[in-house]
Amino acid sequence: MPISSAFVPSAARAAAADRWIHPTPAGLFVAPGGFFIDPVRAVERAVITHGHSDHARGGHSHVLATPATLAVMEQRLGRAAGAVRQPLDYGESLTVGDVRLTLVPAGHVLGSAQVVVEHGGARVVVSGDYKRRPDPTCAPFDPVPCDVFVTEATFALPIFRHPPAEAEIGRLLHSLALFPERSHLVSVYALGKCQRVIALLRAAGYGRPIYLHSALEPLCALYARFGVDLGDLRPAAEAGAAALRGAVVLTSGGGGHWMERLSDPVTAVASGWVRVRQWARQRGAELPLVISDHADWDELTATLAELSPAEVWITHGRDDALSHHAARLGIRARALALVGRSGEGDGEEEGA
Ligand SMILES: [Zn+2]
Ligand SMILES: [Zn+2]
Repeated sequence: MPISSAFVPSAARAAAADRWIHPTPAGLFVAPGGFFIDPVRAVERAVITHGHSDHARGGHSHVLATPATLAVMEQRLGRAAGAVRQPLDYGESLTVGDVRLTLVPAGHVLGSAQVVVEHGGARVVVSGDYKRRPDPTCAPFDPVPCDVFVTEATFALPIFRHPPAEAEIGRLLHSLALFPERSHLVSVYALGKCQRVIALLRAAGYGRPIYLHSALEPLCALYARFGVDLGDLRPAAEAGAAALRGAVVLTSGGGGHWMERLSDPVTAVASGWVRVRQWARQRGAELPLVISDHADWDELTATLAELSPAEVWITHGRDDALSHHAARLGIRARALALVGRSGEGDGEEEGA
């Protein structure tokens, strides 16, 4: 049975929800279902929203996720992807213990899902990471009315307003036209951003081969298996200097001998964080591209206004501004401050 959109949020049900779904040191626990959502430690039963490393960790006994997320986990984690792996398609519901569980698209990366949990008439939506912009590489965010909406807040400050990704790709194409001899080396996250940048280039009519650092190849092949056409992709390591002249080369940070064959590269970084000038400078981004797979301030606030839940729970990120904004919309806000949700490395989220 599909998720009903005729649902009236209830403050009483929302207020009672933390008796059955609550944060623990291992992660968000759904007691009547006996499972954790995106746990940070190995657990018996895990439901995983998407394949980024700050959400999909290894070592769980039983993992439930969309088929694409399971495929990403198998590729990245191998045997540690979970002893038993159960796929659940978007829109299909399953009863787990005393909970009805449904996965719906989150629009973040291939396979990314919001987890809809229903128990005793109450409905909580755990969105995972999400965005509201069109993305040719994944299914769009599906708004589901609920008592409690659990949201991220990675870019929850009014300074974070992402321009249209198509315009940022236009800036990359403009640079390629201005400097036809120079290689354009673009830093991207391996899961999501890489494939979205390629798909956006293709949508803008860029038909030339795109060169990849070897670390990016397996996930691009996985996207292709799931029906996302990325065009002519080639390994950078096997390309000669002539081929790399004026070419787009994608890397997730790794290099290799092939980098010596790049001609006077223009260095670009595709991330929502390039808005923070110091962040972009530290990464030597000559051409910062504001392309993010996370909701910006306007998307976060529009989503709260659209769903109008009785409560919003904020998992991680900048909760103050969003809490304040929620209060103005008449939505009770609560900061969960879940641990382990900031990605590895320098404190930002994978895929931002
Ligand atoms: Zn993510
Ligand atoms: Zn995340």
